[in-house]
Amino acid sequence: MASVIQSGNLLGLGRTELEDLAVSHGQPRYRGGQLYRGIYARRVLDLSAFTDLSREFRAVLCSRHQITYPEIAREFASRDGAVRYLFRLDDGNSLETVYMPEADRATLCLSSQVGCALDCRFCFTALVGARRNLTAGEILGQVLAVTAAQNLPRGGRLNLVFMGMGEPLLNLPKVLAAVKILADAKGMGVPLRRITISTVGIIPRIQDLASEPTRPKLAISLNASEEEQRSALMPINRKYPLAELLQACRAYPLRPWEHLTFEYVLLEGCNDSDADARRVADLLRGLRAKVNLIPYNSGPELPYRPPPLERVLAFQQILRDRRIPTFIRISRGQDIHAACGQLSLAGLRQDGLPGSPA
Ligand code: SAH
Repeated sequence: MASVIQSGNLLGLGRTELEDLAVSHGQPRYRGGQLYRGIYARRVLDLSAFTDLSREFRAVLCSRHQITYPEIAREFASRDGAVRYLFRLDDGNSLETVYMPEADRATLCLSSQVGCALDCRFCFTALVGARRNLTAGEILGQVLAVTAAQNLPRGGRLNLVFMGMGEPLLNLPKVLAAVKILADAKGMGVPLRRITISTVGIIPRIQDLASEPTRPKLAISLNASEEEQRSALMPINRKYPLAELLQACRAYPLRPWEHLTFEYVLLEGCNDSDADARRVADLLRGLRAKVNLIPYNSGPELPYRPPPLERVLAFQQILRDRRIPTFIRISRGQDIHAACGQLSLAGLRQDGLPGSPA
């Protein structure tokens, strides 16, 4: 048996860990499964409400453990329906999650790290700097806290995208531990094909992901059409160049239902020319892939701007003419500065935060 936690928050523990915990208290293993279902499927917060457990075991659990979600410190509702949540973590760090409702579904934009080490020039999280990895509990807690706050029914159509703060492939063990519980029908019950990890392209970790039994979908932040241009925007490109990244994408074993997503943040005058679009089409030729064009979500801290809509449409048309499925993702929550990192950045700087506290 692996080491069993003796006290503290149960959120983030997997089925096996909860079973081990039950056994360490002289209980049968299946009691751990009951805890697991209670925490993640029924989403019970009060350990004394686990009435399917014996009174004695419940008393021990209550005296040593809790189930606590990260604390929602502030929330901001956008005119377009998006809600940005700022969480305060136990160590004082903050973290953000964006809830984006649509007619028939909702999408949650999750963070995988506090801050980020990668220094992409256009990204607000880069300005926060590298802080730390999130725990599996903190990742799951974002989903549990927001679905509770929004009263979302379990089994409703929910998409989860790791496109908030941080680089998920630099926190892969914790992200995968969380995904395993998220995707488990007896856990959180979000189908794997509705979970997406977005990466700058950490090639060795993409290769690790390829052999994972429980792997979500993969999105690559392309953001440029040439090596030099990409290195200027995303310094990580010097370590993992575009050419090698695309090779890794070609070698990536897609499941029959799956395609790769390439995200392309459009920055006016930077990476938005017709020639860029043609080069992107050349780079992606032969890949089972789609492209999401994201007009830049700007803020006062950085000089980049989104191109005018005509430019975005022209860029899309060039890719579509070359038979690459290409979609425009208008950033949600612009009035509440919901671009990744913007909220925490404002929090860190104690600026006045925009938007209406809900
Ligand atoms: N580190 C991961 C996940 C976080 S960023 C990654 O880079 O993929 C998620 C996506 O948002 C990336 O495609 C990134 O390029 C994009 N992005 C970052 N800042 C943005 C901004 N201000 N406006 C629009 N998209 C942005």
